[in-house]
Amino acid sequence: MGQLSLKNVVKTFGDFEVVKRISLDVQEGEFVVFVGPSGCGKSTLLRMIAGLEHTTAGDILIDGNRVNDLPPVKRGIAMVFQSYALYPHMSVYENIAFPLRVERAPEKEIREKVEAAAAILHLDSRLDQKPGNLSGGQRQRVAIGRAIVRQPEIFLFDEPLSNLDAALRADMRIELTRLHKQLSTTMIYVTHDQVEAMTMADRIVVLHDGHIAQVGAPLALYHKPENTFVAGFIGNPR
Ligand code: ADP
Ligand code: MG
Repeated sequence: MGQLSLKNVVKTFGDFEVVKRISLDVQEGEFVVFVGPSGCGKSTLLRMIAGLEHTTAGDILIDGNRVNDLPPVKRGIAMVFQSYALYPHMSVYENIAFPLRVERAPEKEIREKVEAAAAILHLDSRLDQKPGNLSGGQRQRVAIGRAIVRQPEIFLFDEPLSNLDAALRADMRIELTRLHKQLSTTMIYVTHDQVEAMTMADRIVVLHDGHIAQVGAPLALYHKPENTFVAGFIGNPR
């Protein structure tokens, strides 16, 4: 479960082709990072996988089933955004519980799942607090908790750490890698940050102007870039 295939996926906005015939297979349990400069189409591609954006052409398959026409909630995915989109008036507990309340899950199931997610994310002692009392890193954990309780087959992350300072980003990279090991769920992680890509990915997909410039393990890309774009982009981390 959690196998993803993209087959010649295209997205145009008017005359502007933002995603250009992208094909890719992601294995079950893999941590794949899409990395590329701002505007290269990362978010658009992720939003198509999530079902938040219509696909102009091509197929998206999850576990072999074409999902192009399925709404987001039926795809077995959960997405974590850069802007945490937490409800300020609700406690941490209620923010994490929110997707389960929407599904009208029983109270006992909600409690079990929220407490399990809070334990994984070290939020146990914060469940009664409001998001406004938390640090940026804790707020991002709440947003991740909200994805975890849905028990998705695939997690999608869109630049989840870009609002955090450098030290916190480094901590969260380690946390997310640990989370991936613990859950062993497929994760697709979008970033413009080469360091995040190099340190977190099983496999990196370098995007350039809406197409794939190269796919490979971090060290393979670093030592054997196939073109000058990849050499320049991965070879010169900030
Ligand atoms: P990234 O996430 O890599 O920064 P995006 O996927 O957000 O890139 O955007 C890729 C390109 O598509 C950008 O040039 C952006 O301006 C354009 N774009 C994104 N969404 C829309 C939209 N809804 N309408 C028109 N153009 C868009
Ligand atoms: Mg983006």
